[in-house]
Amino acid sequence: MESLRELYKVGNGPSSSHTMGPARAAKVFMGRYPEATSYEAVLYGSLAATGEGHLTDYIIIKTMDPKPVKITWRPEDFRLFHPNAMQFIAYNEANEEIGTWTVYSVGGGSIIEEGQARDEVESVYPNTTMNEVLDVCKEKNWTLADYVYAYEADIKPYLEEILAVMRESLMNGLVAEGTLPGKLNYPRRAKQFFEQAKANPEDLSILIYAYALAVSEQNACGDVVVTAPTCGASGVLPGVLFALQEREGYSDEQLVDALAVAGLVGDLIKTNASISGAEVGCQGEVGSACSMAAAAVAFLKGASNLHCEYSAEIGLEHHLGMTCDPVYGYVQVPCIERNAVAAKRAYDAAKYAMLTDGYHTITLDQVMQTMKETGHDLMAKYRETAQGGLAKHFAEC
Ligand code: SF4
Repeated sequence: MESLRELYKVGNGPSSSHTMGPARAAKVFMGRYPEATSYEAVLYGSLAATGEGHLTDYIIIKTMDPKPVKITWRPEDFRLFHPNAMQFIAYNEANEEIGTWTVYSVGGGSIIEEGQARDEVESVYPNTTMNEVLDVCKEKNWTLADYVYAYEADIKPYLEEILAVMRESLMNGLVAEGTLPGKLNYPRRAKQFFEQAKANPEDLSILIYAYALAVSEQNACGDVVVTAPTCGASGVLPGVLFALQEREGYSDEQLVDALAVAGLVGDLIKTNASISGAEVGCQGEVGSACSMAAAAVAFLKGASNLHCEYSAEIGLEHHLGMTCDPVYGYVQVPCIERNAVAAKRAYDAAKYAMLTDGYHTITLDQVMQTMKETGHDLMAKYRETAQGGLAKHFAEC
């Protein structure tokens, strides 16, 4: 498994697959052909189907500025390796092709080039399943956070920065007003929810909703967020963590340890299944975020490793089959509300798991495998193409 640096990334929303991945790829391609006088970016499959609403063309043009870029959309052309495919082409002054590169945006802002296998990524953790991780922790008497720090000794300062960026997105989202960009005229709700949370301090749910909304609304308007594990699902983890900090008094240091635990869960899901809505639907984005957040909540509350794993399993299991169907291709409906509800669900998953003795029938490893298979069985219209589900219904209205 990769470093948590590859999971938690800082960048502009609204979609890590559609903005951060393509921006990263554009930068790499420019570095390979700096002598080019112009470029073309051909967008395939899901990247083309929802690219306009997800600002893919905007971010590629902005990244390659001042050199001109022609964007070509091929939404009907799905590549086998991954539905988020791009081909970059470099041209010289005579408009002759001097180089091409096919690359895939595989989720959470990560890219894999044509011919590269997914398991070629640099591995810093020796284990690839939660069962193995639990065995190691049992043998060494480690918590899940200890496990992360044992293999990524220098990760703590990075996680502190991640926590700071999450907090900044949240604070900005709580004071912002008006509607989000795009033709939905979708109203921001975080500030109003926050006022209600202050008036009802005994109700933790409202604060969790407010905080998750704040980050998700910042993401929807293209502001800076942390992929946790993606931009589309960026509100879930900070939503529940900062609400718990405020109401139950956890320190920043405890939140950083909780981020390590959540990151470990996200990394396992990314390695064994997928965190890409275009590949497996929203169960891979908001479902994974809920799973990560559930483990983090359980850890904060002092749960055993087994109870953390059970919490993560519940968080993912009860999102199985959830489709990706963003209305008009914007990361707004159902995404924003879905983040708020999943943040509360993460809290509930941890609470439920901790009421038990820890015994459970399905393991996190099994549910990850099920999520991957279910995602691949979903029809393409339910995987970030904005052609099915809620998106279709809305368009018909
Ligand atoms: S529905 Fe889920 S996966 Fe699809 S864009 Fe929205 S948050 Fe991302």
